Amino acid sequence: MYRQNLKLTWVDKLYIPAIIKGMWVTWKHLIRPDKNVTQQYPEERVDKPEGFRGYHRLNKDEQGRIKCVACEMCSTACPSHCITVIPEPTPEEWTDRERMPKVFQIDMLRCIFCGMCEEACPKEAIELTRIFDWAGYSRDEFLWDKEKLLDMYDKTINEDYMKTMNLSISPPIPDRPKR
Ligand code: SF4
Ligand code: SF4
Repeated sequence: MYRQNLKLTWVDKLYIPAIIKGMWVTWKHLIRPDKNVTQQYPEERVDKPEGFRGYHRLNKDEQGRIKCVACEMCSTACPSHCITVIPEPTPEEWTDRERMPKVFQIDMLRCIFCGMCEEACPKEAIELTRIFDWAGYSRDEFLWDKEKLLDMYDKTINEDYMKTMNLSISPPIPDRPKR
């Protein structure tokens, strides 16, 4: 904070006490390696806490069908306008719903990982996972389509895959603590 008309005492003007005080803080942290919080990422990966908001997935129901009913609540709620949903009618044998997404796309480069889409979804169909470090060589690789988002569901419910990422599987949305 900037303070106008600050009157320095002769001790302040020496600056030595302030330097010693600053050095003491540095040394205190050097001689207490148990308190060291530096994470050697990516060699050492650490799990993410409950409620962490990483990349998205589209959930499937117990019959392996996409849960999304293409209601567009998520795209309406999204403050970044990065979700595109184009609906289509469901197959006749799907008697429990009338619509499903023909196109479901998220522009991850515009996403701010706020979680509003997850909150808005009435079917718990869209969910943010613990995956946070996704790299790509082109902008197109960050336009995640329906297939990619469903593939992310398959990956993130697979314990072996999550172990390779040193991440735990996200519990179902109703069991999560309120943010
Ligand atoms: S996390 Fe936020 S910004 Fe990203 S798609 Fe969902 S609502 Fe949009
Ligand atoms: S993900 Fe949820 S909110 Fe978005 S369109 Fe599908 S059902 Fe609606």
